[in-house]
This record gives sequence, structure tokens and C-alpha cells, in this order.
Amino acid sequence: MRRYLIAGNWKMNLGGKDALNCALEIENGIEGLKDGVEVMIAPPFTSIPILSDKLKKVKLGAQNMFYEEKGAYTGEISPIFLLDFNVKYVILGHSERRKYFKEDDELIVKKAKKAKETGFKFIVCVGETIEEREKGLEKKVVEKQVRAIIEAGIVCENLIFAYEPVWAIGTGKVATPEIAEEMHRFIKGFAKENMVIYGGSVDDKNAKGLLEMPNIDGALVGGASLKPEKFLTIIKTAENLL
Ligand code: PEP
Repeated sequence: MRRYLIAGNWKMNLGGKDALNCALEIENGIEGLKDGVEVMIAPPFTSIPILSDKLKKVKLGAQNMFYEEKGAYTGEISPIFLLDFNVKYVILGHSERRKYFKEDDELIVKKAKKAKETGFKFIVCVGETIEEREKGLEKKVVEKQVRAIIEAGIVCENLIFAYEPVWAIGTGKVATPEIAEEMHRFIKGFAKENMVIYGGSVDDKNAKGLLEMPNIDGALVGGASLKPEKFLTIIKTAENLL
């Protein structure tokens, strides 16, 4: 049976009251949503406590977490602190973390192991840069990122891959459904039981073409998840495809 995950990555946007207003609009907009569509939002850490007891259908996610539970790790966030606030999902290895914070596969594997142990659903982001695609290296790059997780023995039902071509994130240059589908099929060749969702400039206009593809199990949405009407349209698009 088809099922979808529509996840919003708010990045460093929507603090305090703005987060609450946006989240409640999404929550109210999905009343009666069919079970086959799961909706998650990942706000900034400081907005998580504000939302933790306000949401029912919308699941809370974190955009990152550390691999230890406590200690001398200035500025890091413990997975068990997140549990206190009803966080059910974590996003790991987003390309912005790989790029700006130099996160590599080794670090992402450590975080993924801890996320599995803590009981989170964890979304591991993979994807190539435009330079890598232009050199025909896109599958090699994605395979290396996917294999790092698989060979560490972390595969389980809670693992979700997000294929996010770096050139499509925040650029308005969405991958065609065919390009995305081809990579999703490739990833499922390594992890056939796991959901693979697509991220990169998904919006209310292009969601249908992507979500119709047999191996695209949902979307990780950045910019459009900050606009409830657009995010709700993406969610309804998935529901209509069930
Ligand atoms: C993302 O943040 O993971 C993302 C895909 O962003 P956008 O939808 O804005 O491209």
C-alpha cells in the first residue's frame, strides 16, 4: 500500500510565536487527513518546546542532534533532551550541514546509530553537487553516502533516505520527476524496504509530478514548508495519490 511522508525543514526560520502560528495552521489544515500520509515539521531547536504539546497529527522533528547524551560538547543538542519535547524524527546529514559544518559520512553514521538507538525515525540526506552531476559522478557520490549507513548496520524500519540533489536545494531548480525517480530506484537497490523521499525546491506546483513516481515516497520541503497554504497543498497532493 502506498504511503507518503511530507516533511518540512524550516532551517533557521520561524522562532517563537511565528513557529506556533505556522505549525497550528498546518495542524488545523490536516484535520481528517488519511492515515497513509504522515506530516512532520522540523523547526529550529528553540521553537521545539513551544510546539511540543500543541500538535497532534503533525509530528515534530529536529534538524540535527549529537551522538552523545551528555557531556562537554559545547553547543550540541542531546537526543534525550529532544525526547522530552515529543520529537519523533531527526534529520541527519543535510547538505547544508555537510557544507557549512563539514559533517562527513563518519560523523553522520555516529549520529544515525544514536538516532536508531534512541528510537527516532531518522532521515539521512544524500545527494550530489552540480559539479559531480556534470562529471557523471552522481550515482557514485550517492552510493558512497548510502553505503556508509548500510555498512554500519543501521538499516531498520525507522531509517528514511532523502535524496536531495544539492543543486536543487533552495535554488528553484527542481529535479525532473524522471531524474529523481531514477536516483530513488538506485537507492532502493541498496535499501529496498526503506522509504526514500525527495528534497529540492518542491512546491505546490511540482509536487504532483514527483509524488506520482513509484519510488518517490514523499518530500522533504524547505522554502515551501514556511508557507502553510503551499505546504498544505503538497500534503493534499500526496493524499489524493493514495
Ligand atoms: C531542504 O531544506 O531540505 C530543501 C529541500 O529546501 P528547498 O525545498 O527550499 O529546496
